[in-house]
Amino acid sequence: MPSPRRLLAGLQTARVWIVLGVLIPLGMLVVAGFMLHELRREMWGRAEETSRNLLRVAEIDLVRSIEVADMALRDLIAKAQNPLVVAAPEALRRLVLFDQVVTADGAGILVLFDEHGIGILNSRYPTGAGGSFADRDYFQVHRTSPDVGLYISKPYQSRLSGAYTVALSRRIEKPDGSFGGVAVATMRLSHFTQILAQIGLGRDSSINLVRQDSIRIVRFPYDVRDVGTDVSGTSNLQRVIAERQGSFAARANRDGVRRLFTFAQVGSLPLFLSIGISTDEIEAGWHAKALMIGAVLLALFGLAVLLALLCGRELKRREAVEAELARLSMTDGLTGLPNRRRFDETLDQAGRAAARTGLPLALLIVDADHFKRFNDRHGHAVGDEILRGLARTLTAAIHRPHDLVCRIGGEEFAVILPDTDAEGAARVAERLHDAVAALSVGPAGIAAGTVTVSIGLAEGAPSGTSSELYRAADAALYVAKGAGRNRTCRAEAPPAPAPHLRLVAGTAS
Ligand code: GH3
Ligand code: MG
Ligand code: MG
Repeated sequence: MPSPRRLLAGLQTARVWIVLGVLIPLGMLVVAGFMLHELRREMWGRAEETSRNLLRVAEIDLVRSIEVADMALRDLIAKAQNPLVVAAPEALRRLVLFDQVVTADGAGILVLFDEHGIGILNSRYPTGAGGSFADRDYFQVHRTSPDVGLYISKPYQSRLSGAYTVALSRRIEKPDGSFGGVAVATMRLSHFTQILAQIGLGRDSSINLVRQDSIRIVRFPYDVRDVGTDVSGTSNLQRVIAERQGSFAARANRDGVRRLFTFAQVGSLPLFLSIGISTDEIEAGWHAKALMIGAVLLALFGLAVLLALLCGRELKRREAVEAELARLSMTDGLTGLPNRRRFDETLDQAGRAAARTGLPLALLIVDADHFKRFNDRHGHAVGDEILRGLARTLTAAIHRPHDLVCRIGGEEFAVILPDTDAEGAARVAERLHDAVAALSVGPAGIAAGTVTVSIGLAEGAPSGTSSELYRAADAALYVAKGAGRNRTCRAEAPPAPAPHLRLVAGTAS
């Protein structure tokens, strides 16, 4: 497991900062998005529940009103057929039949029509008022179908009052079972709209009361143009009629407003009630919250990412500066070669690698001969030029990628040769002598063959340390100098604290 310090150091890299700086705020955005989504779902759930409750309230009211009217109808028919009532004078009949009547609802009237559609008894108007009503749908339905029971008519405009009305009707039969007329309880549409108005829906919401045969009785908000229209071409209301109960969200056919429609059958009557609440109203609160939270979060996200990027950029710059400093601290300024420090580190690493793998390791120490004289004769600047030339020459003569040429002193270079034995190193040294022999510095008039180097060569034994290797190569160099320079001397392998040295190669001039 990495130590806490290493972990901390790892966290300080620019890439980690940038990645964390983007990922953490991104995670926050995802969580916030999820929460907003949940909030929206909750709001929809609440809206559906509210719609169902409102629907239930309206439905109960409607059913009760219709039941009351139906009871009055049944009562009227029963009494009207009573021989005592039939025999009574009209004034008395009225009194008996329309006793507690529709006065409860105020708006409606009770009428008894004979088999020709003539009103023979009317709770409000005189007998025969309005002429024949045989054209009305309720009259025709009861005349042709004896088993309809309670019939709820299409809405129509009353001939007597001018008000838009729905008739609830029952068939009257003669003692022989034949058609004897119709009993009607009327109910003004305003009565329905009052019930629907009580629900108190929002501005863009709507309520529809439709018959099973797709004839709309009324729509709230009230518009006379909606009364009695055929909605069989209206997909949403068709769905209401087909499914009978439930809810769905859809764009309204009439005005294009998107609504949540909750609907149910009115009791067991052939009527359907549908409440449509505008989705904008449902989501109004949510939209405002989502917009605010989203804006704040996006701003925070942008800020966090910006900070992370700035921080990352600063760290990157620092990393680059540090890397450059590290490179400079390991590089010789005059020649651009790795310097003494890099040499020590690399030799140490190569020594440990050789000990681990058992592969040989060779080292050459290359020292310019009588360099002082060049300086004295041509000046320091030319001396520098020669040193740069030597660096180029030595580097060019080394081919393997793991070999390393360093400047380890004034006019002293070293070549580390991993996986190379003494023989191989001697061949490299030979190449170096040849390359240096070809070195010339034109402007200073230093011709090829003027500059020479002496080389000390040592091969490391697996047990030997890198400093032993260096000492052995340096001692070998000393021998080469003593032997007349411009040659290579090789330390006895393996190097020992007091190595025996012998001359291996020499291109004595
Ligand atoms: P030897 O063959 O015994 O090595 O003789 P040498 O003159 O090369 O050796 P010595 O150690 O006596 O002198 C080394 C000279 O190298 C001394 C100094 O003037 C010169 N030198 C060291 N560093 C630089 C440098 O950076 N630039 C220049 N121009 N000369 C340098
Ligand atoms: Mg020298
Ligand atoms: Mg020297």
